[in-house]
Amino acid sequence: MTSSASLIPVVSYARISADIRRDSHGVKDQHKANRETAARYGWTVVHEFTDNDRSAAKFSVVRDDFESMLTALRAGRLADGTRIEGVVILAEDRLARRPGDYERFVEAFTFRDDRVFADQRGPKDLYSEDVESMGLFGAVISKMEVRKMQRRMRRSHRARAEEGRPVGGPRPFGWKDDRLTLEPREAELLAQAVKDFLSGRSLHSIVMDWQERGVKTARGNDWSVRSLKVALSSPRICGWREIAGELVRGPDGAPVQGLWEPVASSEQWAAVRAIFEGRKGHFVGRDMKVGRAHPADYRDHTYLLSGILRCGRRLPDGTMCNTPLRCNGPKDAGHHTYTCLSRAEGGCGGVSRRGDLVDMFVSEAVLAKLEEASSSSGPQDTEWPKAGELKDVEEQLDELTRQWNARQITNDFFFKLVPGLEQTINRLRGEKNKHEASIAAKAAQQETSASEVRRRWYLPEEEGGFPISVKRTYIRSAVHAVIMYPAGKGNKKFDPDLLDPVWRN
Ligand SMILES: [Zn+2]
Repeated sequence: MTSSASLIPVVSYARISADIRRDSHGVKDQHKANRETAARYGWTVVHEFTDNDRSAAKFSVVRDDFESMLTALRAGRLADGTRIEGVVILAEDRLARRPGDYERFVEAFTFRDDRVFADQRGPKDLYSEDVESMGLFGAVISKMEVRKMQRRMRRSHRARAEEGRPVGGPRPFGWKDDRLTLEPREAELLAQAVKDFLSGRSLHSIVMDWQERGVKTARGNDWSVRSLKVALSSPRICGWREIAGELVRGPDGAPVQGLWEPVASSEQWAAVRAIFEGRKGHFVGRDMKVGRAHPADYRDHTYLLSGILRCGRRLPDGTMCNTPLRCNGPKDAGHHTYTCLSRAEGGCGGVSRRGDLVDMFVSEAVLAKLEEASSSSGPQDTEWPKAGELKDVEEQLDELTRQWNARQITNDFFFKLVPGLEQTINRLRGEKNKHEASIAAKAAQQETSASEVRRRWYLPEEEGGFPISVKRTYIRSAVHAVIMYPAGKGNKKFDPDLLDPVWRN
């Protein structure tokens, strides 16, 4: 039998999320599973950290144990001195409730070298720079990693590009891992897509076709209109390269011809680009017809929460969809609807909710937050800085008066000192009154500003109400995003618990 001293000491972290429907594991079960996971890899759980989001007030979840775990990770040991060299959790969604959490966790975890990490699916290298492997909150969490990578890449990028050598990164669809040789089947599809697109076929139609035939991106994902557009408009298809929107050119001014095999001619690529350029600022139908121009305020959002709501549906691989939801205008139902994008467009198509109710719920949550902030910021600096000074002088006068009454000091002495002290006292009392008045005014102002926001929030714009852009600014400054969990089949009743605002601090 292995003695526990030789096992790697790890901590187990468990969390009950507010996402009740999908929470099949209680905290005990989670820790039990974590111990089993640890045992499988020769690790031993030396401490259990547990948080329960469900019991905490929904809008101000403080995860104490999560924070303690980060502290312990940075320190390399628990408060009692026990060494820790790793973390085991059930699944990554236990770890990160809001985007910043995961980033902070990875930061604390990688604070020291050679640590181990695993969830029920197996161990994972959190030191790895591979952004996609970071999973669940990939897009958001890895900002830090991406920045690091970008810095390093920029240095070698241009030099390599000018030599016509391909730069690092994931394998592009159409080429083998060496990034030079064509992957025959993919290259053929790509070349055909270029031709089809130039002859008028829509991106959507090509994507649907590829999805039906099981064609995946180089990373194994389903194709979407957006990813196909990126692939087709890349000058890579004709052997050229672009950095920051400009073709890499040689000393003669001509585009540098890359060492990789092209799938299209430079004329074809230019034509593809021209089509995309021509569509800019216009609506494009699925039949590829360029429609009317976007209205001047196209970029202004028409709906309160488009881009702020994100899809919280769990995908088959365990990660969260996390796609920004789109808003569809009112139809027969008379209200707008927030939905996840279709799979062809890069979403999961699995979440949809009544827009009016969602808007109302999020508005109320944000307004409540504003009101809470204004009422709690009041009393903090009500303390008048000279209170001690005033008390001293008052005490001096009292003492003097006492001594004078007790005939310990002469009339002369007493009446010489009293006016000075009284003057000081009067001056200080005046300052104190002024200070208190200004505090009261400030508090009143804050209160009115919060209630003024509430009043104008629901007022029609013609009557002085806020336009949507202003309300969106308030919402954006309060939350990073609002996660919308799926309601489940047949559950048609609006359930605010399935909305999860990710508050900013
Ligand atoms: Zn989705």
